[in-house]
Amino acid sequence: MKIEQQRRVLTAIPGPKSVALQERRLASVAAGVSSALPVFVERAHGAIVVDVDGNQFIDLGSGIGVMTIGHTDEAVVAAASGQLEELTHAMFTITPYESYVRVAELLAEHTPGDWAKKTVLLNSGAEAVENAVKIARHYTGRAGVAVLDHAYHGRTNLTMAMTFKAMPYKTGFGPLAPSVFHAPGSYPFRDGLSGPDAAARTITYLEKSIGASDLACVVAEPIQGEGGFVVPAEGYLAALQAWCTANGVVFVADEIQSGMARTGRYYASEHFGVEPDLVLSAKGIAGGLPIAAVTGRAEIMDAPHAGGLGGTFAGNPVAAAAAIAVFGEIERRNLLAEAGRIEGILKPALLELQEKYPVIGDVRGIGAMLAIELVHPGTLDPNPVAVGSITAFAAQHGVLLLSAGTFGNVIRFLPSLAISDELLREAIGVLGEGFAAL
Ligand SMILES: *Cc1c(COP(=O)(O)O)cnc(C)c1O
Repeated sequence: MKIEQQRRVLTAIPGPKSVALQERRLASVAAGVSSALPVFVERAHGAIVVDVDGNQFIDLGSGIGVMTIGHTDEAVVAAASGQLEELTHAMFTITPYESYVRVAELLAEHTPGDWAKKTVLLNSGAEAVENAVKIARHYTGRAGVAVLDHAYHGRTNLTMAMTFKAMPYKTGFGPLAPSVFHAPGSYPFRDGLSGPDAAARTITYLEKSIGASDLACVVAEPIQGEGGFVVPAEGYLAALQAWCTANGVVFVADEIQSGMARTGRYYASEHFGVEPDLVLSAKGIAGGLPIAAVTGRAEIMDAPHAGGLGGTFAGNPVAAAAAIAVFGEIERRNLLAEAGRIEGILKPALLELQEKYPVIGDVRGIGAMLAIELVHPGTLDPNPVAVGSITAFAAQHGVLLLSAGTFGNVIRFLPSLAISDELLREAIGVLGEGFAAL
């Protein structure tokens, strides 16, 4: 189903049908499940999302970086619907099938590192994080897990302990899993530290507070997602990885948000000269179908015994077929280059807005993973109120914008790589009007 790639606001936002659905939702869906915008969507294609009232939004969030190659991509739809009629479920741990193996081969080919790799497929990002920890613990015989401040790794019992923010992710949900340690990371805009200095601070913490001999793994997002698209200072990640390698600690890159072509490379680690022992994929890997992966050094991945890894739906054939189609489209349409095209338009526009509006404290990111951090002008004081005003203004004018950040003061841009220059420029125009109206 094709949808005209055009912004169109026909009703108040939310429109009457959305308002009616919201009432039903409030009566039937648990309050703990919230939505950033009470607009009910009906269809989507490319970079446009259509709501139940017929409004068309330019989507700069892609369902948090999931629809990287575009909504209802034709190749993904064809692969998934074809697979649905062939084989919907078999459970790989009972009787295997080829598509699971093919996804593992593609991940081995496209993740960083030129060594023998193996993969386990799962259903969600959090499950990939959990499995990486299981594998690292089994391999090292150690229990400790270190994560970085401002990280987001999920909402399950183990991963909420690994996630930085208490509210809304941890508050009231304890006791939290033990042996998880939060170390300071690198946040150049706020800490002003060089990569080597920030790495020295992290390493001192790891050595003094945990001790390398008790540490199974360090889990880090090469570019933090939920934390506000924080790009570490130059040299930080490489120094951290070198310390892990020297101390027998498994270095895990959580690339669930930053991976799968979002930054113009298959994995953001490549921008930092880092080749992680284990790499995690999820969000963008299958054009919206639920599948996730842990991929890494064969000797680490093979540490757990047979039966130790898996899950009923994990590596589902329909999701696996979609993932194969996504890899195919990234190659066929040279989508890695599209991330650079988007950066080339969006980043200068954001820098121009920063010159005009000192409420924009920082512009950062790589490829189609860009962000602005809003502050009270001339300070580092977070300005989440301005973020709320801008995202609300954008929604009223047919642009979906996502916020992020520990302080809720970041606007993140993760458009589909299929977005046209025209749509992107139009969305930037709305953003500019939003700042003018602040
Ligand atoms: C979204 C995300 C997760 C969790 O993935 P789910 O599929 O929501 O469980 C983990 N890590 C990062 C970096 C993420 O962006």
